[in-house]
Amino acid sequence: MSDQSQKKIVREIKVDLDKCIGCRACEVACSGFHASPKYSSFNPSRSRIRVVQDLVNDVYVPLRAGEYTAAECTGRQTFKIHGKQYTECNFCPASCPSRDLFKEPDSGLPLKCDMCEDEKMPMCVEVCRPGALTYEEREEERADEEPALGEVETGLQSLVHKHGVQKVMDTIARMSQNK
Ligand code: SF4
Ligand code: SF4
Ligand code: SF4
Repeated sequence: MSDQSQKKIVREIKVDLDKCIGCRACEVACSGFHASPKYSSFNPSRSRIRVVQDLVNDVYVPLRAGEYTAAECTGRQTFKIHGKQYTECNFCPASCPSRDLFKEPDSGLPLKCDMCEDEKMPMCVEVCRPGALTYEEREEERADEEPALGEVETGLQSLVHKHGVQKVMDTIARMSQNK
């Protein structure tokens, strides 16, 4: 076994779509937790979880913000649910140039779920009374999986290229004040 191999806690949020009622309490809680100062505002457009809603067909899909992507992907799958057609983008967690979802409304910078930092229970799970969101932790044995420096640099470069260095620096400063 490699010396670098170690136990790691993997944190997961599971979604039971049958239980989601589209109340959007998760969006409110997430945006409040990440406001600066904490809980000073509640604005779902700043939330890192968004609920895709189809009120007519009673379909609700909570999506947590995933990775930033510098370009649209080529995936063009479609889904049919209760007779209504959805595109792949409807259920994609990426902060992607093709749409406004998972972008900070003021700066346009990408939002990503951070599992509520060190909180024992993520806020979205805490407020989800119907139990559509459940939190799980498990131990995994795996080698150190820190992202390679090159990957981090590439991500930052594309953000700077798109938004400008000042905007990126301002947002990083604002995020550090949140801690
Ligand atoms: S709080 Fe729970 S039930 Fe309400 S929208 Fe979010 S995931 Fe669905
Ligand atoms: S939103 Fe997702 S599925 Fe749609 S183009 Fe972007 S990365 Fe691809
Ligand atoms: S885990 Fe925290 S950061 Fe992630 S979506 Fe839920 S409330 Fe937002």
